[in-house]
Amino acid sequence: MKTILLDSSAFIAGLEMGEGDVKSFTVPSIIVEIEKNPLLRLRIQVATDSGRLLIKTPERKYVHEIEEASKTLGESGFLSIPDKDLLALALQFKEEGRDPIIFSDDFSIQNIAEYFSIKYFSASTRGIEKALKWVIYCPGCKKTFDKLDESWLCPICGTGLKRKPLKKSNIKSKLK
Ligand SMILES: [Zn+2]
Repeated sequence: MKTILLDSSAFIAGLEMGEGDVKSFTVPSIIVEIEKNPLLRLRIQVATDSGRLLIKTPERKYVHEIEEASKTLGESGFLSIPDKDLLALALQFKEEGRDPIIFSDDFSIQNIAEYFSIKYFSASTRGIEKALKWVIYCPGCKKTFDKLDESWLCPICGTGLKRKPLKKSNIKSKLK
């Protein structure tokens, strides 16, 4: 059974929230994060009311497995609690014999998914790529930053910051 898992970047990109046999899932911690945006809150309300979007908490042991893997892969500093929860739910679904696909633009989520052979799909980047440079960005207000403070929170809107590979064309234009 195909099961779609959506992270906040997927909601912000306006991805479809399941149809027919395909169920979309997310985790409560992601809902808390994106409910700050009134438009997204409304869209999520409609999707959950119609049963197209289901909100589920992963079992603790899968969160633990994700935490261990993120340490192994050097990603632990880059994954937020919602990121870990979503990955844990995907892992749980895989163990249950479902066919989970994560929709996320987040490089660290994709990296962990790859490690567990969980499928992932990115709406706006070409998936996992070796990149020389990173850009720090805010999924809420879309501002980008050269540096970030320890809290990993956007100084403008308070959303958790993410990183993504800087595209080659961007690197070139920055060198000019
Ligand atoms: Zn922001």
